[in-house]
Amino acid sequence: MPEQQPAFDPERFREEGRAVVDWIADYWASLPSRPVSPAMSPGDVRSHLPLQPPEAAEPLADVLADLDRIIAPGLLHWQHPAFFGYFPASASGPSILGELLSAGMGVQGMLWTTSPACTELETHVLDWLRGLLGLPERFASSGTGGGVLQDSASSGVLVALVAARERATALVTNHAGLAQDERPLVAYASVDAHSSVEKAAGIVGIGRDWLRKIPLDATGRMDVDALASEMDADAATGRRPFFVAATVGTTASGAIDPVAKIAAVAARHAAWLHVDAAWAGAAAICPEFREPLVAGAESADSWGFNPHKWLLVNFDCHALWVADRAALVAALSMKPDYLRNRASDTGAVIDYCDWQVPLGRRFRGLKLWMTLRMLGAEALRNHIRKHVAWAGEFASLVAADPRFDLLLPPNLSLVCFALQAGDDATQSLLDRVNATGQTFLTHARVGGRLAIRLAIGGATTTRDDVLATWRRVADLAD
Ligand code: PLP
Repeated sequence: MPEQQPAFDPERFREEGRAVVDWIADYWASLPSRPVSPAMSPGDVRSHLPLQPPEAAEPLADVLADLDRIIAPGLLHWQHPAFFGYFPASASGPSILGELLSAGMGVQGMLWTTSPACTELETHVLDWLRGLLGLPERFASSGTGGGVLQDSASSGVLVALVAARERATALVTNHAGLAQDERPLVAYASVDAHSSVEKAAGIVGIGRDWLRKIPLDATGRMDVDALASEMDADAATGRRPFFVAATVGTTASGAIDPVAKIAAVAARHAAWLHVDAAWAGAAAICPEFREPLVAGAESADSWGFNPHKWLLVNFDCHALWVADRAALVAALSMKPDYLRNRASDTGAVIDYCDWQVPLGRRFRGLKLWMTLRMLGAEALRNHIRKHVAWAGEFASLVAADPRFDLLLPPNLSLVCFALQAGDDATQSLLDRVNATGQTFLTHARVGGRLAIRLAIGGATTTRDDVLATWRRVADLAD
């Protein structure tokens, strides 16, 4: 009987760890020569995998060989320099190392007491990030607010909705002394808000039908007059408008809702205002892009963005700030006896399990800290600036070609365009461009038309990659 390997042997780990880091370095180095997207049919990957797991240990070399043979060819390469689809999920060396260290420590940060450094580093780095983005003081942990890392923007809006629901129902209980506010709760977001808002409305029990989808103006922003009429009409007919989600950088076109005006309308109904800046929020680290992105934030109850999209922190990392952390904690705190401890009882510490849906939580702050420290804020700003400049160049090329329509001026690094020949021609062009494997673009509906979206945000993307993509698009449009 072969002797069993211990689950962790420092010397073996040292050696295998080096091999894995080498594999990752080689993977990134090989990306430009790989097709961006896989040519796969459903079941292709599984057809190479054995039906049963191994009984006996296999060497790392065999596993890495299968990564090369089976797994890597079945990936859409999100870190490829010519990946321009969806929004980026950009990673960087420092963030990947932070992820590795987090796994290496293997701690649980659910309570302050279960790893004080895990909690305090997170709070601290979110205060740093708040300052870098120019978000208002109300979100600082030194006051009534504070920041927390969630896995995703979807979780951010979900916890904001739960806190808003509790606040809305408790308001009546506390202020009017009524046992229960029986009015149906109504939430609002634009028709182009991310689908996670509607999903969250379903999950929290408001019901998807009670999310009113507010129409857009001609530039893709929420129509604030329509929002005001809907909220007033709901209030007048015995409903309780309680939550508004504004989007800073819509998924389709990158449009930025007029948050300050939305805030004024929301305030009339004492509704919670959540700002979803999942992608665009990162650009607020550049003073020249900041104003429209953080405008109105001083009136928001919660504001979130994804460092895992455009700020070089690998997935998953959503930064959420709340102005009143007590509202979030009141909605989500559960302290059964086995979790009670002296530090929590003093009220002097943050227990982040009270700010999220799951109990357990990993050391996510580490990779954010390492990215900020090892790249520095100025490099992050330049990363964003380059992409915005290249998007402008790409947009000019589109606008100068009579076969194309530039559907909107670019929003930051997102360009939406279409063939004048119509949706079918645009879809067929997109399919042909992606079939080359040399670049990857996705689509959205913008102003009722099928748009091809170019979202620049890759860690190693260059201006040449952007210009080569335009040449490919232009050549294939004939
Ligand atoms: N909000 C916006 C505006 C988005 O574009 C996205 C995803 O692209 C999300 C929310 C959801 O992000 P996540 O995958 O972090 O839940």
